[in-house]
Amino acid sequence: MHVTTGLQTTLAENLAMIDDTIRYFRSQGRRVIYDAEHWFDGYQANPDYALQTLAAAATAGAEWLVLCDTNGGTLPQELEEIVGTVHAWLQTLPAPRPQLGIHTHNDSGTAVANAMAAVEAGADMVQGTINGYGERCGNADLCTLIPNLQLKLGYRCIAPARLETLAETSRFISEVVNLAPDDHAPYVGRSAFAHKGGIHVSAVEREPKTYEHIDPAAVGNRRRIVVSDQAGLSNVLVKARSFGLELDRQNPASRQLLQRLKTLEHEGYQFEAAEASFELLMREVLGARPRFLSFRIFTLTASARGTAPATAVNP
Ligand SMILES: [Zn+2]
Repeated sequence: MHVTTGLQTTLAENLAMIDDTIRYFRSQGRRVIYDAEHWFDGYQANPDYALQTLAAAATAGAEWLVLCDTNGGTLPQELEEIVGTVHAWLQTLPAPRPQLGIHTHNDSGTAVANAMAAVEAGADMVQGTINGYGERCGNADLCTLIPNLQLKLGYRCIAPARLETLAETSRFISEVVNLAPDDHAPYVGRSAFAHKGGIHVSAVEREPKTYEHIDPAAVGNRRRIVVSDQAGLSNVLVKARSFGLELDRQNPASRQLLQRLKTLEHEGYQFEAAEASFELLMREVLGARPRFLSFRIFTLTASARGTAPATAVNP
């Protein structure tokens, strides 16, 4: 279907186009990475022909055959099986053989899982994007994929020192493309190593492995303690220390601070992402908040003139 309806050509002509195109680039001294668009859907419909397209690319001199799940509909298990089959088939070709790559999309929410499955089945190149940006639901997110492959499965993708700049890179790219960063992105999100519940916080302070799957520093992220009405005293103490205020459990101000926090949150205030407000609150309870200004009186005026429609004026 992708050849006859999509490209509107014949199966034989498609093979000839693959051959012509790759031979042309090779004759210009270029190295070729062949991205086989719609490859997995094609393979499901006609495995023999799908392999013929790869054979045509290999014979014409492509160095890489990249299997693309262009519609993003393939699931990890079937994808791994197919890549394994292709990998075994490749070994039957005469040397020098091309290497395998994988290109996945996230339409089934499995772009990263699919790319990992392909690597385990023999792919040596992974295509993806920072933060998973891409058409529709996006491409495989390199910010998840690289740490998974490198820290969990032992593959060397990039130098460890560069891995430590991953969180920064993710934020930089989101700024460049003018999209809000995803706080909950694995590894690089602002909340990836945030701890809220009281027991979590006291445990993670004793032993990070209790609530952290990796050391946040490995990907350039950091632990974040958030305060909330679920917070126990330990959160508040840890937080106070990060602002340079030494408080201990015995200090009545500690309980007072926790109590004040709970009251305010009950009224609708949120301090989870408002660290400066929390610091001010803390200094106020401890009597360490200077008063620079005091409120005496205010006047409010509103006016409109000229072209504003009458309905816009609402005294
Ligand atoms: Zn794509």
